[in-house]
Amino acid sequence: MDCCQDTQLSALHPDGQKEKGLRMRRIDTIVIHCTATRADCPLPPSRLDRMHRERGFRCCGYHYYIRTDGTVFPMRPVECEGAHARGYNATSVGVAYEGGLDAGGSPADTRTAAQKDAMRVLVRRLVKEFPVRRVVGHRDLSPDADGDGKVEPEEWTKVCPCFEVGDCLQEWFGKRH
Ligand SMILES: [Zn+2]
Repeated sequence: MDCCQDTQLSALHPDGQKEKGLRMRRIDTIVIHCTATRADCPLPPSRLDRMHRERGFRCCGYHYYIRTDGTVFPMRPVECEGAHARGYNATSVGVAYEGGLDAGGSPADTRTAAQKDAMRVLVRRLVKEFPVRRVVGHRDLSPDADGDGKVEPEEWTKVCPCFEVGDCLQEWFGKRH
């Protein structure tokens, strides 16, 4: 089975369930993103998916999407390489929260309490499931200047995910991860 082939959001695998027929890849990094959209402007998963497809991706570049109400949507099977952090896609999982811009359009940590809770639970689950060595924010990764000519989501904003992931590790894991 091909990644994202004819994927409909309604047909995506339930949270935590493995997609049949896909071989698991090595995952050692979790990269946190924001959608870089105004937190007061709802961005349904279907629209996020379409936005990425319009930019040439087969489906949403992130693996998980956390909405403002804390609902977690699986967007791309974790078995499939994502399209969210150039140079790190092969061995990482991309997690994005809805928002990252305030009502004035300025970058801000707009995560709701529900989003923060959902993010903690999701990241902890992924760290349990995979041999994750580090959890980082998108902006913590140096860009891979390979100039491959593709416009990838990470190029849309440089401040993503608009909060310091390093400051959350204590809360998420009780220690620096
Ligand atoms: Zn990002």
